[in-house]
Order: sequence, then structure tokens, then C-alpha cells
Amino acid sequence: MKVRYIRLTILGIILVCSILLNYLHITAGTVFPSVHAICPLGGLENLQVWLSGHGNLQKLFSGTMTLFFLSVGFTLIFGRTLCGNVCPFGALMEFLGKITPHKYSVSAKFDTPLRYLKLVILLIVIGMAWITASIWISPYDPYVAYAHIWSGAEIITENGIGLFILIVVLISALVINRSFCKYLCPVGGLLSLISLVSPTRITHTDCIECGNCSRSCPMGINPGRKGSVNVSECIGCTTCVEVCPSKTRVISMTLAGKTVKPLLFVVGTVCIFFGVIALLNTAGLMQVTVPSLESVQQGGTHLNVIDLKGSMTIEEGAVYVGMNLSDFYTMMEIPQSVPATAPLNTVQDFVPGYDFHAMKAK
Ligand code: SF4
Ligand code: SF4
Repeated sequence: MKVRYIRLTILGIILVCSILLNYLHITAGTVFPSVHAICPLGGLENLQVWLSGHGNLQKLFSGTMTLFFLSVGFTLIFGRTLCGNVCPFGALMEFLGKITPHKYSVSAKFDTPLRYLKLVILLIVIGMAWITASIWISPYDPYVAYAHIWSGAEIITENGIGLFILIVVLISALVINRSFCKYLCPVGGLLSLISLVSPTRITHTDCIECGNCSRSCPMGINPGRKGSVNVSECIGCTTCVEVCPSKTRVISMTLAGKTVKPLLFVVGTVCIFFGVIALLNTAGLMQVTVPSLESVQQGGTHLNVIDLKGSMTIEEGAVYVGMNLSDFYTMMEIPQSVPATAPLNTVQDFVPGYDFHAMKAK
């Protein structure tokens, strides 16, 4: 079986699993992680708050930071391979691109400056997240809208702009290969900068100039061109290596100067990434959801007030933040007459005008 089909199968499995996870998060509750908690962008937005010792932004957890540092370290070694072989939204872009036979090729005059757009977006996202101490990009993020597609009409009020951008992004992916990855994605922008110092490269020697590799590159970076391949835009899919008809394999994937076979590179990098996640999870370093009440009662980590969920009862809320019940009532400005078994998002039924979310923020 050709490596590119194995890679697409892996991407298909990742995409289906991510869709299932998004669906379960919306329908079955917060025991399943939100898209914010398991995206490296969440870690980047959280970095300043986390470094200053103030815990994590709303919807983010310690495991989000673990995932962020893992993604940075992985990219330092393997370049932008996360984009090529792991990211579910990138996979969606690539599958959409396969639906339409003919693609629009953006001329170099516009293509090159447009690729810097994702770096500008990256700077805006970091700047605004750090200034506002919130996941500022969320209402405008097409990936967030995509992950919340299961929430029905609510998505229009919660992520209306993000939904509109998502529709534009999905349509553009039909006519321009991986348009979002090339021009807009801030995570792609971050990984493209880090990959500049990675030892993973596509290298080529005596090209026979058949053009196969350039036609098949999903990132449109013309790997057969004389000179070095644009390492910050290469997503390590290895398609160019596989389609090269030269018997001497003039184009190859190299790691620290050593040639790595496409199959080994694709399968190996995916196994390493998810293998490390499994190890970190076993070590208890991948907390990306609200911990169980039992684990907190047994001495586990408490939540910040901002991480409380409306489905928790008042007494559970007190346990989660590590306060006695009476102090919790006082802090949350809930009258003692409201039963402790009432979920936090139902306090408004007892106290007209009470706003749980505003109280958390306060
Ligand atoms: S550029 Fe963004 S959407 Fe595309 S594969 Fe990379 S992280 Fe995913
Ligand atoms: S240069 Fe080769 S490995 Fe890199 S993205 Fe293009 S086809 Fe994939």
C-alpha cells in the first residue's frame, strides 16, 4: 500500500475520533475535553497567566500546557509534521481538497505575502489573549465553531462570526489546497517559526524536473525547485518523496542529515506523538477536563473558581475549590436559603437576576 494512502487513513481515523470527541463534549458533558483544552493554541494563550502562577484561563487545564510544550518540542525535532500527520482540522482541509479535481493556484505575487498573514494573526491572538487574560479568539475561531457544530442553534449566538469564517474556510479548501493552513492558522504560524530550527528537512539532489512532486505537494511549495525547500511551510507529508519517479530518489526526507523512508517517517512520528501523550497521561500530566469529585476529595488538585461549571451543585463547587460550604456561599453571594444540592446554573431560579458566569468572573 502506498504511503500516502496509509497517511490518509491515519488522518481519517484522527478526524473521525476528533469529531466523536467534539460530539461527546457537547452532548455528554465536560468529562470529555473541549477543543480549547486540547489545542496547542490554548496553551499559547494561557502561557502568560500560567507563567505568572495564576493557574489557567477558563476552559484550560494543566494538561493543555503539557500538550503545548509537547507540540513545541515535537516541532523542534520533526518540523511542522503535526500539521501534516496529526492535526484533525488540517486533515479536514486536505480531505475537502480531494473532493474537487482542479485547484486554483494563487500566484507567487500574492501567495508569498499571504503566507505571512498567519503570523500576523498569531501575534494578534497572543497579544489580545495576554492583554484580556481570556481565550479572546474563541468567538472568531473557525475551529471552535467547527467543534461546536453539534450545539445546534446555540452556535449562531455563541460562535456566529466563527461559523461564518468556518464556511468561508471550508469553501476555500475546496478550491485552494489547505488554504487555512497556508494563510490563516495561528498554530500553523507558530509551528512554522519553530520548524525553522528543526533538523527535519526535505532535501533534493539532481532533479529530473518532471514536476510530479510540485504538483502533489498539498502546501504548494514546489519541493522540486532548485535550492532549499521552504522548511517552514513543509508539513512532512512525504508525498513528494513518494511520487518522485527517479530511480536514484533525488528527493528525500532527512532527519539530521540521515535519510528516513516515508513510511517510517509518517507512521513513526504519529506513534511517537500519541505514544508520548499516553505516557504523560499515565504519569497524570494530561489533565484536560474537570477532575472527578472523588479525586479532589482524595487530595487532588482544586479548581480555580473560574473553572467551576454550571452543572456542579453548590456543595460540589465548594469541594472543587477547596472551601467550606459556608464560605463558598458567601464568596459566590448565594443566600443560605438556596439548597446546597442545587446546581450552580439554577441559582437564578431561587434568586432572580443571579448570574453564575458573571459571579465567577467577579
Ligand atoms: S496549519 Fe493549523 S489547521 Fe493546518 S494542520 Fe497546522 S495546526 Fe492544523
Ligand atoms: S514539500 Fe513534500 S513533504 Fe513537504 S509538504 Fe510538500 S509534498 Fe509534503
